[in-house]
Amino acid sequence: MAPTPPQDRRPIVISGPSGVGKGTPIQKLFHAHPDTFTTTISHTTRKPRVGEVDGTIADQTAKGLVIVLDIDVQGVKQVKASPDIDARYVFIKPPSFEKLEARLRSRGTEREEDVLKRLVRAKVELKYANTLDIFDIIVVNDDLEWAYRELEEYVFR
Ligand code: ADP
Repeated sequence: MAPTPPQDRRPIVISGPSGVGKGTPIQKLFHAHPDTFTTTISHTTRKPRVGEVDGTIADQTAKGLVIVLDIDVQGVKQVKASPDIDARYVFIKPPSFEKLEARLRSRGTEREEDVLKRLVRAKVELKYANTLDIFDIIVVNDDLEWAYRELEEYVFR
């Protein structure tokens, strides 16, 4: 079956605190819709630097693929400040601070001091997302299936 691309072909920037569960719904999106999306750099390796985003977005879009970027809030500020990028912005929020903490720990990849650093940073990021008119949609990642549906619905609407 031929892929049905989203009508809105702008790059989709997905952000949110580390450990909130961005990677999980993004992977679902890629699997559910093969040959539809692309990401400039695997979000499992490292975050793209802003210069790279600039350089490769046009090439990818030319291939008919819609770019999905998983970047931190700091990166979102930079992308937003770039006049050449017209993107859609999604923020993924935890159902509660306690659940975010639990998820960060459940990943088991972080040392205690890093978990604490990420939590401090998450507080700032959540405040930023809530107070400023930066994001087009805020998805609460409580039940993964619900969060995924909401993301998918937004992407294809
Ligand atoms: P991020 O990409 O935002 O850093 P991940 O996708 O790696 O986050 O998810 C962090 C952890 O939380 C993983 O262990 C993942 O399986 C788990 N997780 C993601 N979404 C949910 C959810 N809705 N409910 C419970 N755990 C979740």
